[in-house]
Amino acid sequence: MPAMILKTIPVGPLQCNCSILGDEASGTAIVVDPGDDAPRIAALVEELGLRVTHIVHTHAHIDHIGGSAEFKRLCGGEASLHEGDQWLYEHLDMQAQMIGLRATEAVALDARLEEGDRFDLGGDKLEVLHTPGHTPGSCTFVLEREGRQIVFAGDTLFQGSIGRTDLWGGDSAQILKSLRGKLMELDDDAEVITGHGPSTTIGVERRTNPFITGELRL
Ligand SMILES: [Zn+2]
Ligand SMILES: [Zn+2]
Repeated sequence: MPAMILKTIPVGPLQCNCSILGDEASGTAIVVDPGDDAPRIAALVEELGLRVTHIVHTHAHIDHIGGSAEFKRLCGGEASLHEGDQWLYEHLDMQAQMIGLRATEAVALDARLEEGDRFDLGGDKLEVLHTPGHTPGSCTFVLEREGRQIVFAGDTLFQGSIGRTDLWGGDSAQILKSLRGKLMELDDDAEVITGHGPSTTIGVERRTNPFITGELRL
């Protein structure tokens, strides 16, 4: 069976995890969160011999979407974002200023992400879950392949921690609802690619993440 390709590279000063998810047989790829370093991501896509069909964003914080316009020019692909993050999308300049990053143009969007959307990747599907809390439009992507789930959680879930909710439209009750009601419903052995830092699994976080066990309160 032709292999699935998964490359995750931290990009930009905030080291956002950008993932290239490719299907060897069809030669197509979906790119998650090209937040910065667009030429480097594009070079990797080319090296892997892939053609980008979609660019999807877990949310519109600038470290996750800031490199998308340049990346789309280099590699193509349809860009999409959840409508809940429209305000953040329209204020990349303000975000850049507050975080101390250089300002960048906003990528032209081709579509809205909605709960239940499914993107084709060589016959497998990448499914969209709307998981608000870190931002109003935060989404989690779940790929099911050969009975195993791979989860792209953005800044909703980190290894041993969760995303902050004290920025522009963050909501701590909502993030807990998204985590407990949606992410923790996924399989124990589901691999989670987080927005920053190391990967983890749903099972490990369900058992040990202090925000999910309730040991720590927001
Ligand atoms: Zn964020
Ligand atoms: Zn982030």
